[in-house]
Amino acid sequence: MNCKGKVFLIGAGPGDVELLTLKAVRALSSADVVLIDDLANREVLQFARPQARVIEVGKRGGCRSTPQAFIERLMVRYARAGRVVARVKGGDPFVFGRGGEELDALAAAGVCCEVVNGLTAGIAVPAALGIPLTHRDCARGVTFVTGHARDGVEPDWKALAATGTTLVIYMGIARLAQICEHLLAAGLRADMAAAAIQHGTLPQQRSVTGTLAQLPALVAQERIASPAIVVIGDVVGLAAARSGSVPAQQVA
Ligand code: SAH
Repeated sequence: MNCKGKVFLIGAGPGDVELLTLKAVRALSSADVVLIDDLANREVLQFARPQARVIEVGKRGGCRSTPQAFIERLMVRYARAGRVVARVKGGDPFVFGRGGEELDALAAAGVCCEVVNGLTAGIAVPAALGIPLTHRDCARGVTFVTGHARDGVEPDWKALAATGTTLVIYMGIARLAQICEHLLAAGLRADMAAAAIQHGTLPQQRSVTGTLAQLPALVAQERIASPAIVVIGDVVGLAAARSGSVPAQQVA
């Protein structure tokens, strides 16, 4: 394979530019072309070369977005022309990020690609509130799930409720009321702790914390909207109980 041109599939992390990896910074600074997603913080562009061509791709939920096939064609075209391409996505490219699809398209076109992990929102955003996702006193693990499946098929909430794991729901805020109803019907306690966090790790971060039964009303009242992560599990209560303490990421 000729790797003169190549694509870095980069995860930019959840928002706070300091959560970018050193590897992501190095890859960005080597790029001739940067294709950046809507969700990724524009501040990461400070690490690109001034002469790099920056192309914004993707507009958030509901709006028209750059078709996936077009983005894939762009990457292939630039890499074949010998350019280094930085494809920058929010969070981690392989966690609800279509990174797999893009990797397949690049491989099919014979283009070299290197994946640079990012910190996924499901890990970093709860941490910004001091939520210990797998605290051994009250969680058997953690499950990442999407509240918005491409095929419209509902996740098996009953099975998820039975795992005893903390549930971290991506893209769930628009359907939160239905999701909470499903989880209550599946047997989760109405007083189980739950939180929703918008723009986590960014200066405009906002969140609500309460019980599973209260969460949809709290979210509506505080107008918490996408992009937001929902966390359901007793670990949320641990963070709420010690509120007043400063979560690690907010220490100056
Ligand atoms: N690849 C990304 C996820 C993309 S799906 C990652 O690994 O994080 C988009 C969803 O991610 C949003 O709807 C939201 O649920 C979540 N998300 C991403 N960034 C977020 C942030 N800063 N705060 C809260 N949720 C976020």
